[in-house]
Amino acid sequence: MPERVRTELPGLANRFETFVFDLDGVVYRGQRVLPHAVEVLNLLQEAGRQVFFLTNNSGATRQQYAEKLRAMGVDAQPEQFITSAWATALYLQRALNPGAKLFVVGEPGLKQELRTAGFEIVERVEPEIPAAVVVGIDRAFSYARLAQAQYAILSGARFIATNADATYPAEDRLLPGAGAMVAAIATATGQKPRIIGKPNPQILQPYIERGLIQPERTLLVGDRLDTDIALANLLHIPCALVLTGVATRDEVASAPMEQLPQWVLNDLSDLFGDAVRHLLLHAH
Ligand SMILES: [Mg+2]
Repeated sequence: MPERVRTELPGLANRFETFVFDLDGVVYRGQRVLPHAVEVLNLLQEAGRQVFFLTNNSGATRQQYAEKLRAMGVDAQPEQFITSAWATALYLQRALNPGAKLFVVGEPGLKQELRTAGFEIVERVEPEIPAAVVVGIDRAFSYARLAQAQYAILSGARFIATNADATYPAEDRLLPGAGAMVAAIATATGQKPRIIGKPNPQILQPYIERGLIQPERTLLVGDRLDTDIALANLLHIPCALVLTGVATRDEVASAPMEQLPQWVLNDLSDLFGDAVRHLLLHAH
């Protein structure tokens, strides 16, 4: 990584060295980039701030997320992405034997990250029961997959969920999130999964342990109270809720203490306070 030259920024942004941004509902919704996200992300990096992206969405690989952001005009490398799929792969590397067999209710990105981590993805759970059933968002979810997952778990496979988000913010509406598939499998098996994604601190712990993220010098920006903000508060990371995704101002008003953000932003440009127009007009 090249040496960063730190320059002063106006507003809230200047207080932090590292920024951790959620993706869905913060940087984009579906294929639509959210207001000022591209300019803000590029300005932060040009000003020498470290930027990470933290997503519970397990549908794509880190490489694919980097390509998606680059296509939107954001300077981004795969190493900057912390996804629930990758965190799940790291967790399973410690929990299972190398090359263990996994049955995946999820999308190609999740399967790819698990293969990269050395696991074998199986399409059948018989006659050999896989070591674990890994569940993420699956837009081709079916009764047949549900039945296979149920059989494997009831036969002793571990039940692992990349995340349990109930909803997922698409361009013009909320769609069912991974949590809906996880709930179906939990109901069919009577078992609770181990959940890897936000708000489980496990998703960020490796970065904190390696000193890549120093909680007190970091701002976490997310659009959900029960995942993004809850995680930040658990890890004592200062946090801002942005109102471009799932949570509304009314939900903040009635949120429990552990889900209260320190700041509420209308969009990402609020990170720069009143100087925002000047800065964004003169960017690039
Ligand atoms: Mg989000």
